[in-house]
Amino acid sequence: MYEKMLILKFPRTNVQEPIVCNLAKNFDLTFTILNAAISPRKEGQMVLQLSGSPHNFDEGVRYLRGRGIIVSNAGEEIRRNDEKCVHCGSCTAVCPTGALSIERPEMLVVFDQEKCSICKLCVSVCPPHAMELRPAENGETQPE
Ligand code: SF4
Ligand code: SF4
Repeated sequence: MYEKMLILKFPRTNVQEPIVCNLAKNFDLTFTILNAAISPRKEGQMVLQLSGSPHNFDEGVRYLRGRGIIVSNAGEEIRRNDEKCVHCGSCTAVCPTGALSIERPEMLVVFDQEKCSICKLCVSVCPPHAMELRPAENGETQPE
């Protein structure tokens, strides 16, 4: 079982949709809403405790992002230490969300943190330990 506290930022167009209920119905995830500030015709924010299998969790987060919702972790985040990365590509083989990908023709590995579900799979496969789990430090991702 996998459990994380997430912050969801809803664009104006989605605040009326039962997106969080769909997480339970379509992805067999359980959730507890810890905090919500959502108003009609305005952007909304919700703090959610979400749990389920790792696969369902990743699928659920992918669904949220596909609906235009910005998903971030309330307590931790994955960062790449660019000084350590040697662009070996090992992490791209395990990343389930496409957050790590190879840019051609340069064959450089790029990291898109917006797509990261913080599954941590890349952390253990990175030979020089460039992928690091850190406490979330971006003030914009913290609950208000
Ligand atoms: S596994 Fe580590 S060193 Fe290799 S490309 Fe990924 S982040 Fe860079
Ligand atoms: S933690 Fe690593 S493997 Fe998992 S989604 Fe983020 S970048 Fe990809």
